Amino acid sequence: MQQHLVLAIDIGGTKLAVGVVDEEGRVLESRRAPNPNPPTGDGESLLQSLLALVADLRTDRAELVGVGIGCGGPMRWPSGEVSPLNIPSWRDFPLRARLADEFELPVRIHNDAICVAVAEHWRGAGAGVDNVLGMVVSTGVGGGLILGGRLIDGASGNAGHIGHAIVHENEPVCRCGAVGCLEAIASGPNLSGWAHEQGWREGFPRDQRTGHDLVEDARRGDPIALRAMQRAGRALGIGVASATTLCDLEVVAIGGGLSQAGPLLFNPLEASLRERVGLEFARAVRVVPAAFGQESGLVGAAALILHPERYWSAD
Ligand SMILES: [Zn+2]
Repeated sequence: MQQHLVLAIDIGGTKLAVGVVDEEGRVLESRRAPNPNPPTGDGESLLQSLLALVADLRTDRAELVGVGIGCGGPMRWPSGEVSPLNIPSWRDFPLRARLADEFELPVRIHNDAICVAVAEHWRGAGAGVDNVLGMVVSTGVGGGLILGGRLIDGASGNAGHIGHAIVHENEPVCRCGAVGCLEAIASGPNLSGWAHEQGWREGFPRDQRTGHDLVEDARRGDPIALRAMQRAGRALGIGVASATTLCDLEVVAIGGGLSQAGPLLFNPLEASLRERVGLEFARAVRVVPAAFGQESGLVGAAALILHPERYWSAD
């Protein structure tokens, strides 16, 4: 029997990834490259970089049944004009339409964090569970919401934006314009910025003060880096508590670079969560590390094509 293979594309501010995913959610081959992030106004060259990466795949295009895309937001959905905050050369760039012209196949697109949540629900830490919040804690804080076994889109395709749930009344200011967002506290750049203000890695160049460095230092027992993990964990616990009570969640799966801190992040998260869930149904929630690593965006993007009954409500 012929395999149903999907071309999956994952576009973030720092990297481009493309791959071929089969019906079981296996990534048969993939290519990754840094996002060249061309200057504003040069969106076309970024598309050409992406297509060059696709051309490098060995799978015959005739074997593909569709193209699934995860891309940084915001975007107009489902029409797929993208304006990723971290990719200034794409503003209202018609990514879905351009790829539909290029491949003459069904093309579906969603926010990259939503694709990560879909991957965890389809084949990862939330498999077999009907009510799941999938989260990414990395350069930003993103998420996707599956309720009753179906991806929830919301009015504009933006449901699940847990990073901009409010976890503090009057600080810090978030890049979205609001105040007290989870992302403004717990994203890698914001957390390492806070740690630096507390005296962490004074004298180090800026590129050696990333979220990744903070995780490494916390593992080594650096006291400020450990406090930073507690700060992020507490904020995440507040956000997860609210989401759990609002949506009656069973599982919250958390991935992304900062989650690599393991118990240094998950323990304060759990403590903060347990202080803030009172109702019996909410106390049953389980917070678990994501099962997928960097392939999750590709797997979830493929699921938009392979399982529309669960993950695609639009045209
Ligand atoms: Zn925000």
